[in-house]
Amino acid sequence: MSRVYNFSAGPAVLPVPVLKEAADEMLDYRGCGMSVMEMSHRSNMFQQIIDDAEADLRELLGIPENYDVLFLQGGASQQFSCVPLNFSKYTGNGVADYIVTGQWAKKAHKEATKFITANKIATSEDKMFTYIPDCSDLPITPEADYLYICENNTIYGTKYWTLPNTKGKKLIADQSSCFLSEPVDVTKYAMIYAGAQKNVGPSGVVIAIIRHDMVPEEELPEVPTMLQYKTQVDAKSLYNTPPCYGIYICGKVFRYLLDQGGLEVIAQRNHDKAAILYNYLDQSKMFKGTVVPKDRSLMNVPFVTGNPDLDAKFVADATAAGLVNLKGHKTVGGLRASIYNAMPKEGVEALVQFMEKFEKENAK
Ligand code: PMP
Repeated sequence: MSRVYNFSAGPAVLPVPVLKEAADEMLDYRGCGMSVMEMSHRSNMFQQIIDDAEADLRELLGIPENYDVLFLQGGASQQFSCVPLNFSKYTGNGVADYIVTGQWAKKAHKEATKFITANKIATSEDKMFTYIPDCSDLPITPEADYLYICENNTIYGTKYWTLPNTKGKKLIADQSSCFLSEPVDVTKYAMIYAGAQKNVGPSGVVIAIIRHDMVPEEELPEVPTMLQYKTQVDAKSLYNTPPCYGIYICGKVFRYLLDQGGLEVIAQRNHDKAAILYNYLDQSKMFKGTVVPKDRSLMNVPFVTGNPDLDAKFVADATAAGLVNLKGHKTVGGLRASIYNAMPKEGVEALVQFMEKFEKENAK
């Protein structure tokens, strides 16, 4: 068996011990004679899996009691509609504010305009989303029901290192690509959500952490049942058949992160890994990071050579060397290394060594 260093933005690398444990349990999960994929979501066995996953996630992030934890489906993209439908159109003023720092925030904003007045109160689109705007004194709309951000911008490699001054508004954050990469103070948010396929598990699971008072008390007659947070809260994520296997893997990742020492330890490792790559980029004559240094993500590191042919050669040569998925997102081109929690430091070191060699061999 040989494993590559996988720099994919998602679905992405998972911890090897988690994959091994899942492989060991594949045919016979803890003596029940079947795999987790084959068991009823109404079984005691699966109930234990989802309960443990929730408990471990609560411990990892220090999630207070007054927040619900949901395991949802529909991808992070489905939350682009759920958020305005549940928190504004039928429960509030039908007005919300959005900060647009990349494609995913842009899509969330566009989706919200289908249902509510969604004001774009700041954007970094003027400079190809290469920075996070100053959010210390934004023109927050007085009647806004919430303020929405995408906290880590997967495609552009930017991250909010300071949360916006919400001026008392409820903050909703898409944390898909930075979820569990560092400790966060959950109480600063009314809702956090994240697609699992970057830092915590397979695609098909979305994790939502919602302050309980945000969840509509009554059923919303106009909103599809599956898109109502109340449905999922009341049924404890088991209204219908959930993505059982995905939840099981997420649970294993949560346990693994706890066993590693928790999110402080993980955050330190992420800072160390990112520094290796950024330090190299900052002195390279061939490769240039594309993001304003103060707003750099620890998870997604975009860079360019400035020459699309050379970028393509780099991707091909790197792939041949076992360093895969380094192509930038199709909308921006260039190169991108996603270095999520499960990317070992050795993977980043191998990438930098390869870049040094490539730079020497291909210098004009
Ligand atoms: N938000 C962010 C920050 C993302 O990176 C992505 C996907 N890469 C999405 C939302 C959309 O996720 P999904 O494909 O699960 O709908």
